[in-house]
Amino acid sequence: MNIASLTTQTPVRPAASKPMKEVDFSYNPQDQVVLDPGTTRVKVGDDLSNGKIQLVGGLQPNLEGSYVYDRHDARFHGANAFAAVAKTQALFEEAYGQPIAWATGKPQLEVHADNGNVLNAFYSRDDGGLFFFHSTDPVTQRVVHGADSGEVTGHECGHAILDAIRPGYMSSWSGDAGGFHESFGDVVAMLVSLQDPRVLDKVAEQTGGDMKKPNMAAALGEELGITINHTAGKNATGGDYTRNAINHFTWKKPSSLPHTAPPEQLSTEPHSWSRLWTGAVYDVFSDMVQQNLAGQPNVAAAISQAANELLGMYGRLMKMAPKGSFTYKQMAAAFIQSDLELNQGKRAGQLSKAFAARKILEPKEFRADSSAPENSRTQSVFLSNDATHNFGVFAGARVETDVSDRFPQAAEDLKDRLAVLVAAGEIKYTEPGQKLTQQDLIKSNGAPYTGVVRWFDGEMTIERVKILS
Ligand SMILES: [Zn+2]
Repeated sequence: MNIASLTTQTPVRPAASKPMKEVDFSYNPQDQVVLDPGTTRVKVGDDLSNGKIQLVGGLQPNLEGSYVYDRHDARFHGANAFAAVAKTQALFEEAYGQPIAWATGKPQLEVHADNGNVLNAFYSRDDGGLFFFHSTDPVTQRVVHGADSGEVTGHECGHAILDAIRPGYMSSWSGDAGGFHESFGDVVAMLVSLQDPRVLDKVAEQTGGDMKKPNMAAALGEELGITINHTAGKNATGGDYTRNAINHFTWKKPSSLPHTAPPEQLSTEPHSWSRLWTGAVYDVFSDMVQQNLAGQPNVAAAISQAANELLGMYGRLMKMAPKGSFTYKQMAAAFIQSDLELNQGKRAGQLSKAFAARKILEPKEFRADSSAPENSRTQSVFLSNDATHNFGVFAGARVETDVSDRFPQAAEDLKDRLAVLVAAGEIKYTEPGQKLTQQDLIKSNGAPYTGVVRWFDGEMTIERVKILS
């Protein structure tokens, strides 16, 4: 489904307007292990909704009538999740320059702050919202809540925002579309955390303006990452974080990479693969901070200015980004194109340089493309076994993907990608007529499946699972 069909067939209307007022909320733009919670002001109604975001279950205000709580108060999770998601949505909508209608088809994105015991967090289109959980760290015995982290909540909200603007990406089987979705969540979460004066001061102190030095903004989801490593009994993430924007990965042909790999290597698993795109964008951010410092000596101000500018660049990118399946190379070209057309090419040279250094684009490969706006269409393939593919129980299934006229994905590429996902256990088999709950679509390791079998008139099809972690 795309936005056009949502707006023409199922009008999305704002929730009935209720009186709203500015209230203080507990808010941690970062993670509990690196920053103590602070507060922020959010405009909200008594039902903990602002017309775009709804905290499921609401919250009992404190004695002063605000939503500021001790971090050990159970209400803290909901307050932080609501405030962080509301901020992320508002900031990105401003950067994008127009209202966003959720791909869920509902006017409000539901926020479930504590949905049970799972070591993960999700955006689920079909369930209409964001789901956060808790888990006990086996080493520290602390109960860790995803909702307490501005970065974890910002990342999941990033998935919802990207799905709203480009719903075709969640139907795509392309590894690059999956990687871009993960990177988008990380980049948006990082840029939102850099709106906070306390984070800016701390990052300025940690880096002195050299953004290649380790810092709390580049390190994403520290508390969740530490808990993942403690639970795995090994360094599964590469350090005391879930992911880090500071890296040196360069593009490799995806078919030459494993589906999973240790954290120091790239794999085609979307969270791993996302680090390549994030690293390239972070290089541009780092350059922008250096340039800003040449004009004025205040490090926090230089970082803040670059973060705001990059948020604007992402807003413009989403005006021109491919609509269906795409490769990183095509998205990089769209990024440069958006800068040339909508920003007088101010950052086009730096973008080209960064993507070339990461081998996503060849040096000087990019040429401005003034072709007509793309149309996207649906392409079907049937998974038939042959000399190079064995689909096992999934043989004979039909698979669909959105492809663009400008960026078509070959049917053979799609078969190759499905073969990798089948071999990696990423496709959930179901019987005809089987009813599925959200939990059925989650693997035993807490991550969602990539695809699921659905039957239509006796025909097996494999659909993308519309849940991202
Ligand atoms: Zn994600």
